[in-house]
Amino acid sequence: MKMSKLFVQTLREYPSDAEVVSHKMLARAGYIRKLTSGVYNFLPLMWRVLKKIETIVREEMDASGAQELLMPFVQPKELWEESGRWDAYGKELMRLKDRHDRIMCLGPTHEEVITAIARDGLKSYKQLPVNLYQIQSKFRDEVRPRYGLLRGREFIMKDAYSFDTDEAGLDKEYENMARAYKRIFDRCGLDTKMVQSDSGAIGGSVSHEFMVITDTDAGENDVFYCNNCDYSANSNHAVSKLPPAVVDGKEYFSKTEIIDTPNTHSIEELGKFLNIPSTLILKTLVYIVDKKPVLALIRADRAVEETKLMNAVGGIEIRIASSAEIAELMASKGFDAVPGFIGPKGMDGITIIIDETVRDMKNFVVGVNKTDKHQVGANLSDLGIKEFNYHDIRLVEEGDICPECGKPLLVTKGIEVGNIFKLGTKYSKPMNAVYTDINGEMKPYIMGCYGIGISRTAAAAVEAHHDEFGIKWPLSIAPYHVVVVPVSTNDESQMSTAEKIYEDLLKSGVEVVLDDRDERAGVKFKDADLIGFPYRITAGKTLTEGLVECKIRETGEVMKLTPEKAVEFVRNAVANIK
Ligand code: ATP
Ligand code: MG
Repeated sequence: MKMSKLFVQTLREYPSDAEVVSHKMLARAGYIRKLTSGVYNFLPLMWRVLKKIETIVREEMDASGAQELLMPFVQPKELWEESGRWDAYGKELMRLKDRHDRIMCLGPTHEEVITAIARDGLKSYKQLPVNLYQIQSKFRDEVRPRYGLLRGREFIMKDAYSFDTDEAGLDKEYENMARAYKRIFDRCGLDTKMVQSDSGAIGGSVSHEFMVITDTDAGENDVFYCNNCDYSANSNHAVSKLPPAVVDGKEYFSKTEIIDTPNTHSIEELGKFLNIPSTLILKTLVYIVDKKPVLALIRADRAVEETKLMNAVGGIEIRIASSAEIAELMASKGFDAVPGFIGPKGMDGITIIIDETVRDMKNFVVGVNKTDKHQVGANLSDLGIKEFNYHDIRLVEEGDICPECGKPLLVTKGIEVGNIFKLGTKYSKPMNAVYTDINGEMKPYIMGCYGIGISRTAAAAVEAHHDEFGIKWPLSIAPYHVVVVPVSTNDESQMSTAEKIYEDLLKSGVEVVLDDRDERAGVKFKDADLIGFPYRITAGKTLTEGLVECKIRETGEVMKLTPEKAVEFVRNAVANIK
């Protein structure tokens, strides 16, 4: 490809709405153009990268025994009613009507469609196990599309679904997919961590995510991990033991009583006012889960993890209550307390979830739904709570103790590029997707599902491989392997050497761009760095010694080689791509 013909327009500036490196660089280097919020054109350079990732994914999925198919992007409402997700999925599901008033949606994922396909075709245990996958555009009306390709509304995903007759079969396929994922991300030049993660309140018992660890802003997930053992988990799922703390207030409070605690709206103010550690305060938080108020009780030095709380309630949507909603709740119970003074007393009929940290607390301090008052020397049994729903709803913190080996946990940020789920019968049961087992009995399939964000993986690769000048693509997924730059297109010897190198590389099957533009060398070098060609061969003044320069983008290393050696060097590197 000649640079003068390549369809690429680099921008002088980063787009103003780009917050993270991958969005900035992919837009500026001419890989993507935004069409509308969360929806991007994949221009020729981007499409080459995406196709390479897709090829790696296909090769590894096929090698692991999965079979590719392609399902429709538009799906009928009825199928989603069968699984129960038409109501459960929420606003991310883009719903539309056709000309006959039939209600449809744009596929955000394909469990329903694949389960219907299996139900039609997989009737006997003799046909199982099967793993089917596709690579396709998905649409999710994300609340906050952001970060370019990392969280788009339309994006490309590889989704696979396995069907087994028993749990043991599912376990085996789950491991098989975990190994395939490791190979896929390795081949894409991405270091990933496989971490335990939340799999939702309903169905799905086990799941793992593959995270690209990053220190950039793009890491939307906190990953807790242990350096001493293998433990690692998304914060929405991580558990830990707690370091020792004061949890019995007997030295501070000799009796239980309600006292004045004026203006103690925060835990810090209350702790200071009473001169006690926050571990002696029971904190009551009001959340709204699926439109209903829920109280979360937790030791006040710790924070609530919302996904854990949502799962404890069995809900599908959670948010912290607004002050207006808290006021309304108080009024409905005949109280008029403001936040800071809320407590579980007198809250009959409201779901109360108690974090495990509260179990050991004795003679503590708690709000009693009266502004400027708290009860001290309190115990949980005194508070009139009808049901003691203990759950671990605590957000783990760095330095907490590893649940597996007892060493302190560390935290880092991660970008989720793929995940694997054990679904069990979550879809096959409600959709009555059954096969006949060896004894002639009808049984629902035991399912698993396995996703990889193709477009997100490309963006994550940029997050992981760049410098201030631009992208440093791993060779395996770079749009082109090498750019050949004649410093001056008017210099005949430079131009003819560059053209010869270009032709030789082309003949060897190397993907090469010849920068034949009549531009200053500085401009060509800048573009080469920004676009991120893994290698740059420059025909410039060293030609008088019969040498060209070969620069490795990843390390910045520059070698002076004869044109033949430079061709050989790049050809060998390309031949060694895994
Ligand atoms: P997230 O928690 O990041 O929203 P998810 O749990 O919704 O991801 P899945 O539904 O399991 O993700 O989708 C499988 C893969 O698709 C994810 O691992 C991710 O790589 C990718 N993906 C999900 N949502 C998006 C999006 N909005 N834009 C780009 N890629 C996405
Ligand atoms: Mg999501």
